[in-house]
Amino acid sequence: MNYTQYFENAVDALKRERRYRTFAEIERDTAHFPRATWHGPQGPRDIVIWCSNDYLGMGCHDDVIEAMCATAREAGAGAGGTRNISGNSHAIVELEAELADLHGKEGALVFTSGYISNETGISTLARLIPDCVILSDELNHNSMIEGVRHAGREKQIFRHNDLAHLEELLRAAGDRPKLVVFESIYSMDGDVSPISAICDLAERYGAMTYLDEVHAVGMYGPRGAGVAERDGVMQRVDVIEGTLGKAFGVVGGYIAAKRAVIDAVRSYAPGFIFTTALPPAVAAAAAASVRHLKNSGAERARQQAQVAKVKDALERAGLPQLVTDTHIVPVMVGDAEACKAASDMLLSDHGIYIQPINYPTVPRGTERLRITPGPCHDDAQVAALAAALVDVWSRLGLPFIARAQAAE
Ligand code: PLP
Repeated sequence: MNYTQYFENAVDALKRERRYRTFAEIERDTAHFPRATWHGPQGPRDIVIWCSNDYLGMGCHDDVIEAMCATAREAGAGAGGTRNISGNSHAIVELEAELADLHGKEGALVFTSGYISNETGISTLARLIPDCVILSDELNHNSMIEGVRHAGREKQIFRHNDLAHLEELLRAAGDRPKLVVFESIYSMDGDVSPISAICDLAERYGAMTYLDEVHAVGMYGPRGAGVAERDGVMQRVDVIEGTLGKAFGVVGGYIAAKRAVIDAVRSYAPGFIFTTALPPAVAAAAAASVRHLKNSGAERARQQAQVAKVKDALERAGLPQLVTDTHIVPVMVGDAEACKAASDMLLSDHGIYIQPINYPTVPRGTERLRITPGPCHDDAQVAALAAALVDVWSRLGLPFIARAQAAE
C-alpha cells in the first residue's frame, strides 16, 4: 500500500485546478510595521505588508507587547491545561470582564481562536435549544458553517443580506425556536449587514441572534466594539462573537452574551472544555489591546483616513476595486493564475506583499487582491502601492476601468 501517493495525488489535484497555495515567509519588524523582511529565493529583502488582518497594528503596540512579556515573566509561557483542569488564569478572567464590558453584556467566554468560538459556540447553542432551526447567511465564514453543521439541527440558508428571504424563512419556521447567524462585515467583499433590520425581524418572529463581528471589533463604534455598537444596536443582538487575532493584534476568540448563555456554553461546549486555555500572557496582551482601543479612537481615525487615500488613489489609477464602505479594499482580477502572478510580481519587483485570494475562499472568476490599509501605512507607501499596481496591471494586460468611468 502506497499511502504517500494518496497525499501526493490530492496535492496534484489542487495544482491541476490551480488551487495550490504557497505562502511567503515574512518576518515582521515591530518598530517599522507594516515594513517587514521577506525571506525569498534571493535571500532576505525589505517589503511593505498590505494584506495584514492585524488591521490596526496593535500586534506591534508597546502596551500589548509589554503586557505579554511581563505576564509571561510572572506567570510562565503556557496555560497549564484546560480551563477545567488548571488553566483558569487571573489574566483570562480579567480579559473576559473586559470583553463583557466592551459589548455591554453580562458575560464573555474566551476560546483559543475566533474559528473555535464559532464552531463550538454555534453548535453548542443550537444543541441546547430543543427543535431549533438555524437560519444562516449564505456567505457566512467556514467556522460558522461548521458550527451549523455540527449542531445537527435543521438549517435554512438565506440569500446574502436578503431581508425578504430571511423573513420568508422565519415565517415558514412557525413557532419553533430559531437562531439567526450572520456577520457584520463580510471579509472578502467588505460589505456590511443590516444588523438593525435583522434584529427587527428576529424580534418580530421570536428568533435569537448570533453576530460574528470578527472583521469589525476594534475598528468600528466609539469604543471599538464593532458595527453593532456603531449602529446603536449592540443590546439587541443576543450573542456577539469576535476575535482577538485581527484588530486586537493577538490571538483567540470569544462570545459575549447574557450570563446564562455564557454559563451554558462554558459547561457544554467541547471546543471550550477539551482544549488547553489561552496562555495568561496572551490573555493579558489581548486585554491590554482591548483596553487601549476602548479609550483611543486615534488608530481608528488614522485607519479610516488611510483607507480613504488608498481607495482614492486606486480610483484615480483606474484600478478595478470593489467599492466598499469598510476598511477592506478588494481589487478584482477574476483569474486564479493572473491573481497569483500579480501577487508574485508585486512582491518580487516592488517589495509589496498582498497574498492572492483564490477559490475556495472566493468563488471562481472573482479572484482578487485584498488590500487592508492600516494606520501605520504612510502616504508615500500609498502612492507606491498605486504605482506598483498600475505597473503590474499593465504588464499582465489586466483590464483597467476607463478613466472617465473611474472618475465618476
Ligand atoms: N469569522 C470570520 C468572519 C473570519 O473571517 C474568521 C477568520 O478569518 C474567523 C471567524 C476566525 O477567526 P480567527 O482567525 O480568530 O480564528
